[in-house]
Amino acid sequence: MEQLSFVDLKDKICVITGGGGVLGSSIARGLASAGVVTVILDINEEAASRLAEEIRSETGVDAFGYKADVLDRGSLEAVREKILREAGRVDILINGAGGNSPSATTRLEQITEEDLNRMDEGFFGLELDGFRKVFDLNFTGTLLPTLVFTREMATRQSGVVLNISSMNAFRPLTKIPAYSAAKASINNFTQWLAVHLAKVGVRVNAIAPGFFLTSQNRFLLLDEKTGKLTPRGEKIIASTPMGVFGDPDDLNGTVLYLLSDMSRFITGICIPVDGGYSAYGGV
Ligand code: NAD
Repeated sequence: MEQLSFVDLKDKICVITGGGGVLGSSIARGLASAGVVTVILDINEEAASRLAEEIRSETGVDAFGYKADVLDRGSLEAVREKILREAGRVDILINGAGGNSPSATTRLEQITEEDLNRMDEGFFGLELDGFRKVFDLNFTGTLLPTLVFTREMATRQSGVVLNISSMNAFRPLTKIPAYSAAKASINNFTQWLAVHLAKVGVRVNAIAPGFFLTSQNRFLLLDEKTGKLTPRGEKIIASTPMGVFGDPDDLNGTVLYLLSDMSRFITGICIPVDGGYSAYGGV
């Protein structure tokens, strides 16, 4: 019987978008611990290059940090050419850039009879620009890097893509319709592309993190002044059977599994990493 391990990941080259963020940087460190060479892309150049430097000095494993905008095909292609020139291939793509924004968030969860004179605080007050920004960052920001980096994987008949979805993909959360729609689209696209590339050795999967405190959701979950949970934060904890927010490192086992040959017969799925949130009916 073959020995099971993540050893096949050693020396693989992985591009991770949004890699300078909270979840992305924890994933990048987890990958380095398995010997993966990470190419960290972020619109925030300083975050990307600082992280690469830290990974190199902490682990001795190669890591690179570059500025790239997931909504700008040219900037992604420039990085791809650089990697192909220097390393010859990209084995893994993680689409980690994404997030929500106050500009696509309603103040009201629902409109009741008492709210009829302030309907602009709900759905009817959403600006198309804000909605588009969040939808595009999450969906188009996954689509474009995938277009740019998987062609060469298909030609070589080897590669893995991992998309970062969310609980919102299964059932939308109140207040954030653009983010929810985009993450649902990511799950659908994960399945579509998995089928499309299944015969050329490229697997496409996703993870759906539950609730982790990061810069994109802190304003919704913690009171800025007191630092205490907002009513929404309390609801989330009450809806998470394990009773806590996730620690970014909690994603790493699932990520390594989906990237390695351990999951070689798995494509087109989305694994929740959520402390039980998606399993719980609330009662
Ligand atoms: P984060 O804000 O810490 O990280 C996002 C990173 O993406 C940032 O470093 C940011 O600079 C970068 N970025 C933003 N726009 C970009 C662009 N146009 N091009 C390139 N990079 C860009 O947030 P996070 O919580 O670490 O989010 C990572 C992913 O996980 C996102 O897709 C998010 O939707 C998803 N997610 C987060 C949670 C959570 O609880 N935090 C839950 C589910 C899913």
